Amino acid sequence: MTIDDIPTRLGQVQDRLLAACERAGRAPDSVALIAVSKKQPAEAIRAAYCAGQRIFGESYLQEALDKMAELTDLDIEWHFIGRIQSNKTRQIASHFDWVHGLSDPDHARRLNDQRPPERPPLNVCMQINLSGEDSKSGIEPKRAAELLAACLAQPRLRVRGLMTLPAPCDEEDGQRIPFRRLRELRDALASAEHPLDYLSMGMSDDLEAAVLEGATHVRIGTAVFGPRPYN
Ligand SMILES: *Cc1c(COP(=O)(O)O)cnc(C)c1O
Repeated sequence: MTIDDIPTRLGQVQDRLLAACERAGRAPDSVALIAVSKKQPAEAIRAAYCAGQRIFGESYLQEALDKMAELTDLDIEWHFIGRIQSNKTRQIASHFDWVHGLSDPDHARRLNDQRPPERPPLNVCMQINLSGEDSKSGIEPKRAAELLAACLAQPRLRVRGLMTLPAPCDEEDGQRIPFRRLRELRDALASAEHPLDYLSMGMSDDLEAAVLEGATHVRIGTAVFGPRPYN
């Protein structure tokens, strides 16, 4: 696996997405691919960009800022998909277009207050914990309405939908269960004023299951960039 393989791998992921959309009877452009570039060098992002990729996801703030500084010539839409820490909200609000892991009303207030006035409202997805494990981040489904209300009170945030990161499962029927629950929770929370159109779910090993259950954003790292270097 080298940087030269990235265009081919990106094409393979796009083919998987197309096939999944076809199986699901969905339009091919109804699912956006977020290329998850955490732990990958800036050159890997540039290679994917040259192959047409525009949306990138990062999990570690300082690493992301370093790469952004190297890639200012590229027109990238940056998504923060990592765990949010209170002392990092200002930088997240300043440098990203989307935040996927919002699960704390206090973080919502901070991101709102710290979003630079010259930038459009920050797009957010609320992260829901559907595996019920304490170790996994995200808010419990029964508290999602409360978090939504806290987010809707923030004019500098735009709540776009829900995100989940389920425990791994190796067969498709099992993979679909948490994704279906996320969609059903979205249907229950959505209204005309806040349609919550977006479902951020699906990674390298379960993107087909996610598309079948209505994903609008899949977050794909390994399948695009290869294994993450260990450090
Ligand atoms: C790392 C990560 C991904 C990508 O995972 P892959 O299995 O490499 O595709 C997706 N979402 C989140 C939140 C991640 O942290």
